[in-house]
Amino acid sequence: MYENEDSGPVRFDLLVVGSANADLVVGVDRRPAPGETVLGSDLAVHPGGKGANQAVAAARLGARTALLARVGDDAHGRLLLESQRSAGVDTTGVLVGGAPTGVALITVDPSGDNSIVVSPGANARLTPEDIRAAGPLLSASRVVSVQLEIPLDTVAETARALPSGTRLVLNPSPPAPLPAGVLAACDPLVVNEHEARSILGRDAGTTPESWAQALTALGPRSVVITLGAGGALAADTRTGDFVRVPSPAVDAVDTTGAGDAFTAALAWRLGLGEELPEAAAFAVRVGAAAVTKEGAQASFPTAEEVSAL
Ligand code: ATP
Repeated sequence: MYENEDSGPVRFDLLVVGSANADLVVGVDRRPAPGETVLGSDLAVHPGGKGANQAVAAARLGARTALLARVGDDAHGRLLLESQRSAGVDTTGVLVGGAPTGVALITVDPSGDNSIVVSPGANARLTPEDIRAAGPLLSASRVVSVQLEIPLDTVAETARALPSGTRLVLNPSPPAPLPAGVLAACDPLVVNEHEARSILGRDAGTTPESWAQALTALGPRSVVITLGAGGALAADTRTGDFVRVPSPAVDAVDTTGAGDAFTAALAWRLGLGEELPEAAAFAVRVGAAAVTKEGAQASFPTAEEVSAL
């Protein structure tokens, strides 16, 4: 067992602090106008939310993974707990109650376009106090991965509460202005093209290298930009290296969850001690494998499937 610098033995390669949602999906011929009702297909219910997705993605790869999240004391909450446990995620950090489980109400039209309403529910009740109470879990983890589907105060407390031997990986999705203290703790900040442009605004520049340059100037120790079929760009302020990591060519079927699979894989491999370019090279393969199957959690590959790519 490894030891964190200022804490006890490491029990988890990755702790994900984030959201857990039930995705409620209905196919429609067309969306209703205001005041109108339309009939849709049978309801499909899938476990989702960026936090829950990342935890399942990491566990499926073989990482010792724990989830710190909040769900409601209801059927959706039980579905989410069950999907985490069956993937091998430790759920002792999943808090139950306080509000209904978060849901994403999704309609899909015949062209495949989604319209989504999210009710954050219990995700919005994951508090800074919950993070402070979970100190032993943070100390027992090599890497902590966070997204922005939980309150920003809770994200900031996670960054503050990190033991010195624990690394923070942050995917700022959905994009929101980040406190300087959170940015400075990111190692790396992981963004897609949309998130990079959203954070940087008009001064974004036109190339991933220019985005990485501008993002590193905001304070994170490293930055990774995912580029869809174009792979990723890894920028490390310690070495000054900007490395383009190509993605293997695959037949993309459904990109849902590819970013979550990428981030989980990256965080895991960094925690194992890999350098940023090596970890990113593994993560693009995981992302590429994930787009070859339908769904989010259902598409996440095992380590064997990644090797076979
Ligand atoms: P999403 O929101 O769909 O989950 P994202 O927009 O956050 O994803 P992307 O940059 O689209 O993130 O994809 C993440 C990673 O997934 C990429 O870095 C790449 O490794 C892989 N990927 C995505 N799309 C493709 C594709 N068409 N072909 C191969 N790999 C892909």
